[in-house]
Amino acid sequence: MKAAICEKPGLENLKIKHDVEEPKITDHDVLIRVKAAGVNPIDHIVVSGTLPIKPVPHIPGAGTSGVVEEAGRHVTSLKRCERVIMHNKVFDGICDICLSGNDMLCRNGGLIGVATNGGFAEYMAVPEKNVFKIPDEMQWELAASLPVTTLTPYHALKEAALKVNESLVIFGVSGNTGMMATQFGKKMGAKVIAVSKDNWIKDFGAGYIISEYDRVVEKVNELTQGKMADIVLNSLGVQTWENSFASVSLNGIWVTFGGLTGADVKLNIQSHYSKQVILIGSTGGTRREIIEVIDMSKELKTRVWKKFTLDETKEALQALYAKEGMGEFC
Ligand SMILES: [Zn+2]
Repeated sequence: MKAAICEKPGLENLKIKHDVEEPKITDHDVLIRVKAAGVNPIDHIVVSGTLPIKPVPHIPGAGTSGVVEEAGRHVTSLKRCERVIMHNKVFDGICDICLSGNDMLCRNGGLIGVATNGGFAEYMAVPEKNVFKIPDEMQWELAASLPVTTLTPYHALKEAALKVNESLVIFGVSGNTGMMATQFGKKMGAKVIAVSKDNWIKDFGAGYIISEYDRVVEKVNELTQGKMADIVLNSLGVQTWENSFASVSLNGIWVTFGGLTGADVKLNIQSHYSKQVILIGSTGGTRREIIEVIDMSKELKTRVWKKFTLDETKEALQALYAKEGMGEFC
């Protein structure tokens, strides 16, 4: 089969090979014929070689949608030709963390596309417990965005326990996860304030847009009548850290699931405890939540900046940062 292969670190070393052996399934696995794969920062990290990966040579790709090509002997919930997405967390289901309902944090886990081969290929083998059916009418592009782009902000807002009528400031709304966060914020009944220069984000549910990046804190102050934001979601990292932290209300919540522009930030402990700000780290989401986002998928929209073929994987990964991840798929 055809697949994108990392043999050594560096995007320049990524190769498209046509003679890669098709993955073999066990009795509990499903062979998926890949229809669309999301291109996410994690894939870029994998290819750059800053994370340990298995196996090597490695097929990246952490967010995939496709069709069941073959189901293992003991697979009961899926059959050939069904449309599916995969939940990209490897988990054992038996450790204390899994039993607490947080299988994405499994002590013995990892990520499909990092700890195992991923979906930048014609086929991939995935355990049945990681595969979920999707409705017939769902577009492949949206489907491929569910495992990472959609699930991640949904879980983050649930972790932050966003409530009706609360103010939610989102940094990086023009990116894929930001667009989804905006839609979920609106669905959960929040007043969504988007920090963005893109006016189209209003179509995704933003009630207010702050486009002057040097006046973010002042504008949040104005829009919240001096209270500041109940919840601030910032996954852009260091570049927007100061503005985002300064935008949180007394007793408010600052939540993140990424650090696109850099992860090292400077925190003044006093400003943290004296305002009683809660800092929440969030990663991925649970299998239950993936079922919830599939249920809501009819009401969600995504914006695909550009589609790439599997042969153009390198270009797709390059474009991810060049365009701030405007939703590319291969
Ligand atoms: Zn576990």
